[in-house]
Amino acid sequence: MKPTHIEHIGIAVSNLPETIKFWENVLGLKCYNIEEVADQKVRTAFFMVGQTKIELLESTDPEGPISRFIEKRGEGIHHIAFAVRNIGEQLENAEKHGVKLIDSRPRRGAEGLDIAFLHPKSTSGVLIELCEDRRQHPLTDLP
Ligand code: ZN
Repeated sequence: MKPTHIEHIGIAVSNLPETIKFWENVLGLKCYNIEEVADQKVRTAFFMVGQTKIELLESTDPEGPISRFIEKRGEGIHHIAFAVRNIGEQLENAEKHGVKLIDSRPRRGAEGLDIAFLHPKSTSGVLIELCEDRRQHPLTDLP
């Protein structure tokens, strides 16, 4: 799969505005984007640390995955996202290796990325997200 870098770390939080204050005032990082992803029932806030982002995730629905995560385990690290090329192929390959997938096909995530999750049952309990930013290598999109 050879991820090129950690694209972002997702952190489940119960109060986004309060958490943003900590990241801005204490850590001194600037929140550069707040985006709601209806599909995942979350509002996200992004910070850049080097080439890795921090994605804070606040649930917009008491039945949503982030609400359920916080209920069970409290706030904290929710997932790690790796930047990959050819995400569709990577998913097929992972499946061939017996990895259980949450998404068998990539879908659209925050910040215009194509994303897919691997099931934590296959990854030592760590929810792994694969991300591909197709805008970074537009030559492959040419007909
Ligand atoms: Zn993510």
